[in-house]
Amino acid sequence: MNNKLKAVLFDMDGVLFDSMPYHAEAWHKVMTGHGFTFSREEAYLHEGRTGSGTINIVFQRELGRDATEAEVQGLYDEKSTLFNSYPEAERMPGAWELLQKIKAEGLTPMVVTGSGQHSLLGRLEHNFPGMFRQELMVTAFDVKYGKPNPEPYLMALQKGGLKADEAVVIENAPLGVEAGHKAGIYTIAVNTGPLDGQVLMDAGADILFPSMPALCDAWDTLVMP
Ligand code: CA
Repeated sequence: MNNKLKAVLFDMDGVLFDSMPYHAEAWHKVMTGHGFTFSREEAYLHEGRTGSGTINIVFQRELGRDATEAEVQGLYDEKSTLFNSYPEAERMPGAWELLQKIKAEGLTPMVVTGSGQHSLLGRLEHNFPGMFRQELMVTAFDVKYGKPNPEPYLMALQKGGLKADEAVVIENAPLGVEAGHKAGIYTIAVNTGPLDGQVLMDAGADILFPSMPALCDAWDTLVMP
C-alpha cells in the first residue's frame, strides 16, 4: 500500500456481509410475483443502485414507462419486508480479519453503502465491534443519486477529510466499482457473487480478487500507484 493511504472505504452488502443471496432472492420473488422478468443474476447486475433506480429500469423495459411513486414504494416495501424475513446475513468470511489488519496499520475503515436499513449501525457494531464510526458513514440517507454515480464515494472523501489518493475502495458489484473508479479512487474489486469477474474489471476496477480472504492474504503486498 502507498504511504499516503489513510482510509479504506468498504461497501457493505457483498463485502462486509454475505447478504447478496438474500437481496437477490427477495428482488426475484417480488418482481416476478408482479409479472416482471427478473432473474437473481439481474439483481447482482443492479446491486448498489437505489431501489427506485432498479424498479424504473424494469418498468421502462417491460412497460415503457417509469413507475409511479406509489408503485416504487409498494414494490420496495414488499422487497424489504421479504428480505427482513430471511435469516440475518453472516459476516463475509475474511472481512473481520482484513479490518483488523487495517486498524493495526492505523488506517480508518469507513462504510459507504446504498442501503437504508435503520438497523444498519447496530448490525455493524454487533458484527464488527469498534471498527466503524457513525459520523464517517455514508448511507442511502446521505446521497441523492447513489451508485454508479461517484457521489457516495466523493461524500466519503469529504466526510473523512480525504483526498482521492489517500483512500481505497473495496467493492463487489459492477455499479459500485464504477462509482469508486469515477470518484478517482483506487478501486479493489472482490468477486463474492456469481458474475464473471471481467464485468468488474470492465467497470473500472484497478485490481480483482476472487474473495475477501484472498484480498486479506494479499493486503500487505498490495502496491498502489
Ligand atoms: Ca455490494
